[in-house]
Amino acid sequence: MAASERTASEEPLLGFSTRAIHHGYDPAHHSRAVSHPIYTTSTFAFGSVAELDAAAALGGRLYAREFNPTTALLESRLASLEGAEDAVVIASGMAAFGALILSLLSQGDELVVHRTLYSNTTSMTEQGLPRFGIKTVPVDLSDPANLDAAVTSRSKAVYFETPINPTGDVLDIVAVADRARRAGLLVFVDGTFASPALQRPLQHGADVVLHSLTKYISGHGDLLGGALLGQAELIEEIRDRGLRYITGAVPSPVASSLILRGIKTLPLRMERHGSNALAIARMLDAHPLVEWVNYPLLPSHPRYAIAKKQMSAGSGMLSFGLRGGFESARRFLDNLKLITLAVSLGDAETLIMHPASLVRARLAVRPEAHLQRGVEDDLIRLSVGLEVEADLLGDLEQSLSGL
Ligand SMILES: *Cc1c(COP(=O)(O)O)cnc(C)c1O
Repeated sequence: MAASERTASEEPLLGFSTRAIHHGYDPAHHSRAVSHPIYTTSTFAFGSVAELDAAAALGGRLYAREFNPTTALLESRLASLEGAEDAVVIASGMAAFGALILSLLSQGDELVVHRTLYSNTTSMTEQGLPRFGIKTVPVDLSDPANLDAAVTSRSKAVYFETPINPTGDVLDIVAVADRARRAGLLVFVDGTFASPALQRPLQHGADVVLHSLTKYISGHGDLLGGALLGQAELIEEIRDRGLRYITGAVPSPVASSLILRGIKTLPLRMERHGSNALAIARMLDAHPLVEWVNYPLLPSHPRYAIAKKQMSAGSGMLSFGLRGGFESARRFLDNLKLITLAVSLGDAETLIMHPASLVRARLAVRPEAHLQRGVEDDLIRLSVGLEVEADLLGDLEQSLSGL
């Protein structure tokens, strides 16, 4: 990118969708190509030793583990959308979590986490981090006061998702961040289930926001990616340790390019995900065979006020349970014709999964496999896609009536 291209601080505050399409890119600097180029290079050529010295002194733009122009454009665009000073893009959401914790925490530190987290993040906090001397302390942050009792002189940070995977429930970012700040903790928020189109945790007191770019932000289920966003100082530390010599988990420039393409339609997609999900949540809520529905944008939801305070609208993520529990959930999934049984989320396709079935199958190879705290064996997770609302309602209804 040419230095003359607009940066977040110079740009007049254009609207979110406009920045999702244009931020950080001027065709005049790229052979007038309207779409960004993909740079496939592992290293960069310098005209003189003095130029190389100057680049090295600035932290290095010498090698593709530190810098790639396509990924740099993606980082600048994500930072603008999230309202962050800086962003680092990395090979997957899990790589983002690994780089975050291994860059900013050390042996002896403690990490307070909400008791329900994405299943692989749970594995990392239960099995991975203790091996390196980092203790994790799970608490129920739906009552933010529970944070206080979990804090010790070794606590370094608090980590939680909102909305939470797989329940879709929300946590009060301001309330947790206020208590964490008073205790001197950093606040890390995984905002994957909302995307910056619906929620920007930095405005509510978070220090670093994590996204799996695999999900809504890229939106088409065809790649993996992750990002960390926040104050320039913290992000630079993660880039300089996590990417340079701890994980080295840089994304491919082709993945960065596809993510940039996906972001152009993110706000439009999120509108459809949210309106379809609300219609489905209402239908399920009224259905006699449905025991419970968790979609915080339903006015009857106990945390509706929190969702309204920190999200501009709902995403496509919800969970529900059937009166017939575990066995009904399995039959219900088998009856579906249009909706796809798959574990990811945030794609154009509506995806559905049953965590308890997954855990039961996984026990055969991993004896420590278990459902996350706060997840019961009847829970069905639905990632509502972009299909026509009536078609999705029709498929869910026909599957319920076949139970
Ligand atoms: C998927 C997911 C992750 C991990 O991201 P990957 O890109 O799959 O590595 C982390 N957090 C949440 C909430 C997720 O849904």
